[in-house]
Amino acid sequence: MKLTFLGTAAAEGWPALFCECEGCKQALKNGGKDIRHRCAYVIDNDTMVDFGPDTYAQCLSYGIDTANIRRLLITHSHTDHFTPKELDWRSRGYSKVEHDLDLYANQHALDKLPAVLFKPLDQLQPWRLIPHLVKPGDCIEDGDIRFTAILADHAGPEQLPLNYIIERNGSTIFIGNDSGWWCEESWNILSRFKLDIAVIECTYGVRFKEHTVKHMGADCTVAARDEMQKRGILKQDAIVVATHFSHNCQDLHADFEAFFNPKGITVAYDGLVLEK
Ligand SMILES: [Zn+2]
Ligand SMILES: [Zn+2]
Ligand SMILES: [Zn+2]
Repeated sequence: MKLTFLGTAAAEGWPALFCECEGCKQALKNGGKDIRHRCAYVIDNDTMVDFGPDTYAQCLSYGIDTANIRRLLITHSHTDHFTPKELDWRSRGYSKVEHDLDLYANQHALDKLPAVLFKPLDQLQPWRLIPHLVKPGDCIEDGDIRFTAILADHAGPEQLPLNYIIERNGSTIFIGNDSGWWCEESWNILSRFKLDIAVIECTYGVRFKEHTVKHMGADCTVAARDEMQKRGILKQDAIVVATHFSHNCQDLHADFEAFFNPKGITVAYDGLVLEK
């Protein structure tokens, strides 16, 4: 599978909107890998994970044709990961697209759709949109792709936020953004897989590296990788990637690389493409 990182920042972007802290000023000056949009991914040009406010612009930047997207997997309803109003442009008045888009999400995220499209969930045919409820532990087959959802440690308990293990053609990718340390049940599900690529979040960065709840700091990201190794979840040549960074940690790309690279972890940046 080919995995493209459309964005690698936490909710506020990096440099953050309306922020004048030293880290944001420096990131703006540096440009390049220090400019991070909100987190989203494209797999093989037909599958997208998360759909935040920067998705359209990022797809244009990296040559992603959104007409080819067949399925959209949403981790949770926070606005940096799900901007459902953008799906309005699939309606017949705007789009000539001929195929359906399968939208997989928890109930919290699905419930945002009627509010912006002004139709109930069972009447989204004008948008060629098929909503599917996903719960932790679900394993779903869609064409030649199979994905399994685990419960993330994030948001309120009523939200049931999700992380996804995605399988296609013998390759397996884990998308683990917006979570603290996973619960034992989630670890047990993860332990059934052998990952080629593991994407683990690092919202609190190196500065707040001890953080383990709802989001991770850098030590927790490394500990999660170590736990995956201990449980035999990673293939021998697996790539482990840290992403979803908040400007609050003030770490620039070079700081992340100085911390993670000696530990064998890749630091994500906008536009990074991995193939496994
Ligand atoms: Zn987020
Ligand atoms: Zn800032
Ligand atoms: Zn979130």
